Amino acid sequence: MDFLRYADQAAALVNAEPADPEALIAHLADREWLHEQVTPRDVRALRAFCGRLRAVFEASEERRVADVVAGLNELLVEHPVTPVISDHDGVLHLHVADRSASVADLLVGEALMGLATLVCDLGPTRLGVCSAAPCRRVYVDTSPNASRRYCSERCSSRANVAAFRARRRAAVGGPA
Ligand SMILES: [Zn+2]
Ligand SMILES: [Zn+2]
Repeated sequence: MDFLRYADQAAALVNAEPADPEALIAHLADREWLHEQVTPRDVRALRAFCGRLRAVFEASEERRVADVVAGLNELLVEHPVTPVISDHDGVLHLHVADRSASVADLLVGEALMGLATLVCDLGPTRLGVCSAAPCRRVYVDTSPNASRRYCSERCSSRANVAAFRARRRAAVGGPA
């Protein structure tokens, strides 16, 4: 399994915060084999989980390292992961759950293993909340110098334009 990809998917899950089975299926657009397993129960479990996970992203954004670690550890205790070796694509690799797991258990396990690995490998302040208010989307920062501040290119350019306009206003009509 590719842990960094799972960390990115965890951010996508928090941002999607699926409200109904249709929204969850849309989040799983590239994993068609899971679609028919989605139940309202998965949706309820994932919504609760997304709220908890957002708090971890916020702690990381605010550099509250102890809260990041404690938050992830609490979730790991509540959602034990059962790794299994799979060969479905011809190469032995790890999955975070076997085929009998619910969609919610699978996504929760992937998110937690992805984020736990990211925090251990790259550090506990690599999770963020977009700085382009009012956007509240979360992201995972895998940039070499940990410089990411926005959820997307779109928010980044929106923030740059706003900063440019603010500077120009200050230069033209600034306080006398
Ligand atoms: Zn696989
Ligand atoms: Zn954003």
